[in-house]
Amino acid sequence: MEALPEAKTADNLFVGGRVVLPGFVDSHTHLVHAASRAEEYELKIAGASYEEIARKGGGILNSVKRVRAATSEALKKRALSALREFAANGTTTLEAKSGYGLDVTSELKILNLHQELLREQPLEIVSTFLGAHVVPTEYRGTPGGPQRYVSMLIHRLIPEVAERKLAEFCDVFCDRGAFSREQSKRILQAGRQWGMLPRLHAEQLSRTGAAQLAVQLKAASCDHLEKVNKSDIQALAKSDTVATLLPGCDFHLGLKEYAPARALIDAGAIVSLATDYNPGTSPTLSMPMILSLACAQLRMTPAEAIAAATINAAYALRREKSIGSLEVGKQADMAVFEVADYREIPYYFGWSHCWMTVKRGRVIHAAEQAPI
Ligand SMILES: [Zn+2]
Repeated sequence: MEALPEAKTADNLFVGGRVVLPGFVDSHTHLVHAASRAEEYELKIAGASYEEIARKGGGILNSVKRVRAATSEALKKRALSALREFAANGTTTLEAKSGYGLDVTSELKILNLHQELLREQPLEIVSTFLGAHVVPTEYRGTPGGPQRYVSMLIHRLIPEVAERKLAEFCDVFCDRGAFSREQSKRILQAGRQWGMLPRLHAEQLSRTGAAQLAVQLKAASCDHLEKVNKSDIQALAKSDTVATLLPGCDFHLGLKEYAPARALIDAGAIVSLATDYNPGTSPTLSMPMILSLACAQLRMTPAEAIAAATINAAYALRREKSIGSLEVGKQADMAVFEVADYREIPYYFGWSHCWMTVKRGRVIHAAEQAPI
């Protein structure tokens, strides 16, 4: 390396005694949103279900109302401060979904922000169109309303998003209270025709058959999977569709049932982990915390959890050739941890030991040296 011309101007980074990993790839986030939903937190603690809160006007539609009312500048400011925290926790690439706009103007506002943020700060952002998050209020309560919304997505919004090149992937929340398997299939097929690869929110609140739909459509990933059955696990194990697990959701909602990570891994499925950073069900952007949950609750080993949060997640974003591992020819995306052993990263939970984060060979986060 010393012989390379670039080496003359390169900085030497001394990270002696610490653990260096590939930067985390967070393959499922709802980065752009207007505000927290802390006001729903006490209702959840008191026992209200996610769906009960949604019926009272809370939940996703609450976030939609606020995103529609928010200026692009306000949304950007909030996203930028989150991105700094992602970097401080060792994340170097993240996926970001729209889905809190649910009309043409507001969905484009979010997706345009993904592009702006990608240009203006160092973390890599992979944009996903999630117009099919839930049916927005104005299409509810009238017969055929949901069908009209699906039709608007297919004929109006998906073509517009594709023509403006605002998203690589198209996602659908296929579940009770959101979109049916049939609707999801039509939306994802339309997305694919316009060049956006499918991914799915699947089998979170109820089993709908979404995981097998994901396999059938050769989706890049299907995410959540708390309710999968044996045949879903078999289907995923035989496929290239990544099973992305989001234990932060179950933890935050106080649910006892986590996705069957062990059964998926033992069957041979490609398992990845992500934060699902969002204001309703998983308000965390810490991949180290997700690793702790994966080890304690999903019974993954620290090595499995780290592979799931790096190379497998890179594959879920179809970027396995450029990121997700430390190899010649890949981007130098690295996270350095102030620990003596990689197992200490999930072992210490709830606080970050990330000491330095490097994106494409440049330091983008460095812990301050504590005064002694
Ligand atoms: Zn999600």
